[in-house]
Amino acid sequence: MALKGAMKLYLTCPMCDADIPVSGDEKVGSEIYCPYCQTPLKLRKTKDTEELYLQEDF
Ligand SMILES: [Zn+2]
Repeated sequence: MALKGAMKLYLTCPMCDADIPVSGDEKVGSEIYCPYCQTPLKLRKTKDTEELYLQEDF
């Protein structure tokens, strides 16, 4: 596979510390399931740096 195109983004699962690949197209607030521990996670963005992170969403 060529490496060109969309940059792959990895976010860390707060529960199991796994790297979860996201496309970057996900909207803030969208739900993602951790493929490793099946925890429902919500995509969030920090106010200051606009960095994406995942938060448990039970
Ligand atoms: Zn996990």
